[in-house]
Amino acid sequence: MTPTQTTDFTELRAALDPLKAGREIYALMGELYPICRSITGDGFRQTLARLKKEIPLDVREVPTGTKVFDWTVPREWNIRDAYVKNSRGERFIDFRKHNLHVVNYSVPVERKMSLAQLRPHLHTLPEQPDLIPYRTSYYKEAWGFCLSHRQLQQMPEDEYEVCIDSTLQDGHLTYGECLLKGSSAEEVLISCHACHPSLCNDNLSGVTVAAFLAKYLAQAALRYSYRLLFIPGTIGSITWLAQNEERVGAIKHGLVLTCVGDRGNFTYKKSRRGNAEIDLAVEHILKTSRRDHSTLEYSPYGYDERQYCSPGFNLAVGCLMRSHHGEFPEYHTSADNLDFVDSGALGDSFAKILSVFDVLEHNRTYMNLNPKCEPQLGKRGLYSVTGGTNIKQLELAMLWVLNQSDGTHSLLDIAERSGLAFGVIREAADMLFRHDLLKPCRENGSAASHPV
Ligand SMILES: [Zn+2]
Repeated sequence: MTPTQTTDFTELRAALDPLKAGREIYALMGELYPICRSITGDGFRQTLARLKKEIPLDVREVPTGTKVFDWTVPREWNIRDAYVKNSRGERFIDFRKHNLHVVNYSVPVERKMSLAQLRPHLHTLPEQPDLIPYRTSYYKEAWGFCLSHRQLQQMPEDEYEVCIDSTLQDGHLTYGECLLKGSSAEEVLISCHACHPSLCNDNLSGVTVAAFLAKYLAQAALRYSYRLLFIPGTIGSITWLAQNEERVGAIKHGLVLTCVGDRGNFTYKKSRRGNAEIDLAVEHILKTSRRDHSTLEYSPYGYDERQYCSPGFNLAVGCLMRSHHGEFPEYHTSADNLDFVDSGALGDSFAKILSVFDVLEHNRTYMNLNPKCEPQLGKRGLYSVTGGTNIKQLELAMLWVLNQSDGTHSLLDIAERSGLAFGVIREAADMLFRHDLLKPCRENGSAASHPV
């Protein structure tokens, strides 16, 4: 994409109908839900092909065996069918009914066996007897089936015909990348894992919200460039980082998106830096939304932020969720389905992320050009200059911006310190700038000659 779009980001954000967006995001999720994805293979490609109808996506293929730091790109897995048939030829466990029935990355199997022989390969959740668990075995050759505990309890002694019609052979790791160019080469990274099969909150919610972010950002005049990655978890981010080491310096802010479709409150896990601009911006937006949310310090457990925040990169990348992965009962089970996610929650997540980007796009540091005592705002027409109920707030915001603009506090810092919303602080700064009372600074605090 070229930076020819002229629609102002804030205007675009203000015109957004989150409910309508949420319904569209949910519809896309419904299309992607049945696909059996994995960290490699045709399910991943099929998912990217569908996203490509919505956004300008480059599909990359990295061959099996490629060294990526301490890891190696694995063999490619594909599956056509899998079942356990009883002696009457009926499918007792059927991959065609639910792709979670097969342990993801199962090696091929075709043999007859007793229940006792089969039993070590069957996985259930006795505590949640109606749900099918999600199991994988990417890096250890194995095979297995997952089923509800209730179904297992109804499984009689018999001679079973067991078939997993899969292949595990040299091929590629596939991922999708979308770059939307802004006026600056500095980038905002949006990363989501797209390797889970029929699971909605974790992580079709991240995939579909990211796709709609790309669609939306493509219409706006952007300050930053935005890089969106649709990758398999862990090995995907390691592969991208290994193959793009020279690009990493351009990443100024980043978010890993997962579990953004459930009805729970927001959870934000900070970057390893802990006080990066992205951390402050997300926290500010969540705080001013006046809904309960939780903010967590960084920990080396989670999704791809672990790789982006490894000490050799230490990128300013946090992780945005609603309910925390691993901490809701539906997590990694068949109950993480289309009923568990909600179009309202998806639309709300989408709108909140755009609000965070709106802050990043417009956060600046200024220098007060009249720093000795307060300038006389009345004679410039800056007191009660506009109608409406926010006059007092705007006047207060002007005083805060003038007082704090010594080249060391950004508008976001001022919003935090004053307790006023970023939008009001920004509006005040725009007015003061137009009246020659402020001058934008470069990052190091020295005054720039024009707005940056
Ligand atoms: Zn997961």
